[in-house]
Amino acid sequence: MNTHTPDTIVVGAGVAGLTAAWNLHKAGQSVTVVDPTPGMGASRAAAGMIAAVSEVMYQHHTMRTLMTTSAARYPPLVAELTELLGHDVGYRGSETLDIGAHPADRDWFANLAEVQRAAGMTVEQITTRQARKLEPALSPAISGAFLVA
Ligand SMILES: Cc1cc2nc3c(=O)[nH]c(=O)nc-3n(C[C@H](O)[C@H](O)[C@H](O)COP(=O)(O)OP(=O)(O)OC[C@H]3O[C@@H](n4cnc5c(N)ncnc54)[C@H](O)[C@@H]3O)c2cc1C
Repeated sequence: MNTHTPDTIVVGAGVAGLTAAWNLHKAGQSVTVVDPTPGMGASRAAAGMIAAVSEVMYQHHTMRTLMTTSAARYPPLVAELTELLGHDVGYRGSETLDIGAHPADRDWFANLAEVQRAAGMTVEQITTRQARKLEPALSPAISGAFLVA
């Protein structure tokens, strides 16, 4: 029988639990992660965007700080895990394309662009042709596109 008692027990082996466990381990704690189906929760379904752009909403200033701070901390974590694992984990930095399918979507993104600019982002309205050049899988029927650095 294993009588070892860990310093910390983390319940849930999704991205949140595993990252917490990893950081506790680095801080010198012994950690046990408990999960009957590790990695099978929301973390398995996530498209994996570390985005603090299109999620910006009116009157969500405090949320924005949390998102950008979190996004900035992600690349060092990826570098650390890449070194530890010895292989690429598929993280890719890129700009964000906000695409309006219908004219109403385009207007919505135009309003959002103002909020994003007020939050310090560089937002450029580009033509649908330029958008499709950047992302060839886009439908020719899109109504508007905004490129966010
Ligand atoms: C379709 C989809 C797309 C998404 N796209 C994005 C995206 O592009 N970008 C983004 O940032 N976020 C995205 N998200 C959100 C993101 O996936 C979640 O915020 C994140 O994965 C949550 O991680 P978590 O570790 O908290 O939860 P989970 O990954 O759900 O992990 C929780 C774990 O806890 C375990 N558990 C539950 N109850 C118990 C228990 N009683 N005892 C032991 N273990 C237990 C479960 O088995 C599970 O493994 C998306 C989510 C979905 C569903």
